[in-house]
Amino acid sequence: MFDKLSDRLGGVFDRLRGRGALNENDVREAMREVRVALLEADVALPVAREFVEKVTEKAVGQSVLKSVTPGQQVVKIVNDALVEMLGSDASELNLAVAPPAIIMMVGLQGSGKTTTTAKIAKLLKEKERKKVLMASLDVNRPAAQEQLATLGTQVDVATLPIVAGQQPVDIAKRAMQAAKLQGFDVLMLDTAGRLHVDQQLMDEMKAVANTATPQEILLVVDSLTGQDAVNVAQNFSEQVDLTGVVLTRMDGDARGGAALSMRAVTGKPIKFAGVGEKLDAIEAFYPERVAGRILGMGDVVGLVERAAQVVDQEESEKLAAKMAKGQFDLNDLRAQLRQMTKMGGLGALAGMMPGMKKAKAAMQAGGMEDKLLLRMDAIIGSMTLKEREKPALLNAKRKIRVANGSGTTVQDVNRLLKMHQEMESAMKRIKKMGGLKGLAALFGK
Ligand code: GDP
Repeated sequence: MFDKLSDRLGGVFDRLRGRGALNENDVREAMREVRVALLEADVALPVAREFVEKVTEKAVGQSVLKSVTPGQQVVKIVNDALVEMLGSDASELNLAVAPPAIIMMVGLQGSGKTTTTAKIAKLLKEKERKKVLMASLDVNRPAAQEQLATLGTQVDVATLPIVAGQQPVDIAKRAMQAAKLQGFDVLMLDTAGRLHVDQQLMDEMKAVANTATPQEILLVVDSLTGQDAVNVAQNFSEQVDLTGVVLTRMDGDARGGAALSMRAVTGKPIKFAGVGEKLDAIEAFYPERVAGRILGMGDVVGLVERAAQVVDQEESEKLAAKMAKGQFDLNDLRAQLRQMTKMGGLGALAGMMPGMKKAKAAMQAGGMEDKLLLRMDAIIGSMTLKEREKPALLNAKRKIRVANGSGTTVQDVNRLLKMHQEMESAMKRIKKMGGLKGLAALFGK
């Protein structure tokens, strides 16, 4: 969803990095472009303004301008400021109470509230081995309670039996009692949606909150609604004590403004992102990773995590350690391509891989997308082991041999080498910036 913003910022930073020396004016000019890019991405004006001011102030300092890599330093400052804007830390759910911990879900109708309730329940069940009970308090919309029951069956999570005619606060009480008696760890209350902020429903929501005193009150908002999503969040947070926000439809083509301004405007952290209609299409929201994606540095941690799901642990540890060191030869690229096929192919992963986005565009432009992964695999397969470790060995003659061997053209070989180069230099950049915190820690290296 951050594609356009990411492209715009990428352009600005490529120009900055391309120059050996920078003066204050260069930085100010670049920051003006950053500001426009943020506004175009629908970031709230005061948030964009403050962001750019903060970054400029740091970036025009002599220690930056006089450093060996001023462009790189400025990008790092932007990265840090983005992480701060998104809310510095991953916000875990707070469920550490005598069970059942209660999570109350609120939001406008159609925001994805009921779907998200089931997604989170599934996540808690599978990742944290929690015993979860879900209850719908929506007595306004016909069949809302049935909808949750159906989702419950799909994700194999219990739902509170429906009692016709019961009112929300009473349903909440019954759910709490059932959760306690039957030893559930977590109770999720899905409240009635609203078409817009409507006082009667707000009062009902407050009454439920007072009765249930939930550990978490999560507001579900649709990221496609942009600045409206932020306004809705502000409205709700004035009425109840929200503990966090879930942004849905992050898989769509929203411009990203909602995600970027949410924390600054509401003071509430984004805890999850909904990324599709399927019931496992939800991700914990990690500001560092999102900033990485926006700045085109990829989401290496996310990538490694996904890899760990489908490849064996040893292989992914090796890969993570090499990436953290900025090392990446064609053998690694090949291993990576094979994993990518397993992990759902290029589309699913572009944007997570450092430098991959540009490379993908280059490939598409060359009409190489079809069976792309297979062809790249064949190209690397036709190289000698030495060539894979040291691609610089590939002179014109060797390239012809490789092209013939793999049934491709020298142009294809060149494109692959260029892609590898871009990925390699993106990883080196990450390394220069101090590496991704957590990556090394994740694997104890
Ligand atoms: P509610 O009225 O707020 O409870 O909304 P629902 O949970 O019924 O969701 C409304 C529609 O949005 C459904 O068709 C969901 O499948 C869809 N939806 C929910 N979350 C996401 C998401 O993250 N991405 C996409 N693409 N669709 C979603």
